[in-house]
Amino acid sequence: MELDNEFASTGQILAKRYEVVKILGTGSNGIVYLVRGLKDGELHAMKVFRAQDLAEQEPRMRFEREALALSHLTHENLVTLHEFGVLPDGRPFYVAEYVSGDSLEKILDRDDRLETRRLGRIVLQICNAMEYAHQSGVVHRDLKPGNILLMDIPGYQTESVRIVDFGLVRFTADREDNGRLTQEGIAVGSPAYMSPEQCKGKETDGRSDIYSLGCIMYEMLTGRPPFTAPYPMAIMMKQVSTPVEKPSSLADDLKVDEGLEAVVLKCLEKDPSERYQSMQALEAALETILQSITPG
Ligand code: ADP
Ligand code: MG
Repeated sequence: MELDNEFASTGQILAKRYEVVKILGTGSNGIVYLVRGLKDGELHAMKVFRAQDLAEQEPRMRFEREALALSHLTHENLVTLHEFGVLPDGRPFYVAEYVSGDSLEKILDRDDRLETRRLGRIVLQICNAMEYAHQSGVVHRDLKPGNILLMDIPGYQTESVRIVDFGLVRFTADREDNGRLTQEGIAVGSPAYMSPEQCKGKETDGRSDIYSLGCIMYEMLTGRPPFTAPYPMAIMMKQVSTPVEKPSSLADDLKVDEGLEAVVLKCLEKDPSERYQSMQALEAALETILQSITPG
């Protein structure tokens, strides 16, 4: 079948009822557009599957799983799904809540490091959302700054987190179906934020997301994730076997709270059984630290 142009342009109507405003982002899994609903005039985010992958079964199943996972999850810090459908040329799409604001990636590119209280406010919301997802049987497996959006809400002082990109989710309840999508021995994810078990292509659970969140906190504190290298494979090898350097040892001018550093390092334990065992446990530890840093 003849495909439409992979990238829709401003003003183009998709699925008969959404007008393209602009492209919000492109990733491995799809193209995300800002669209306006023709009926309600409201802004939404529309993610459209990549045309080049249309013949590939695996990416397509991942895309459908993402929509499926989102349809099961309702939490104020997870992006809300409105609709799932298929374009006339066969590309699946979904429409979700539009998050106006920057991604954590963009903020870290600009500000380099985050002040402790701001870090705390953001991470506690991530813990909260992921505790709920884990309880619902969903492991995200691709937590990284680019997938954490910070919504600007007019009149609100606090940045409100929305986690996106459930393209790599794993459902902990249905082992069989997962087996087909993520065969043992095949590693998927973003190397700089991947847990050692994920890098080894082993089965993962919520503690893998805790490791990824540890990598994100490390970057918020120091300006870079714990392990960097020119090649993805080299980063993955470091995740598996190189001991992590303490954030406070990276630079003389870096002031890192000792308690917070200990929390981050516990998330980054190579062995999942040495980490916090739940997002809730991590959240509790963080809350204690933050209270001691900012009395009152
Ligand atoms: P991929 O799997 O291709 O990485 P994502 O779901 O992460 O796709 O989307 C790619 C980018 O599009 C994100 O990093 C973000 O900048 C933007 N984006 C995704 N969803 C939304 C949304 N609901 N609102 C605003 N921007 C979004
Ligand atoms: Mg993404």
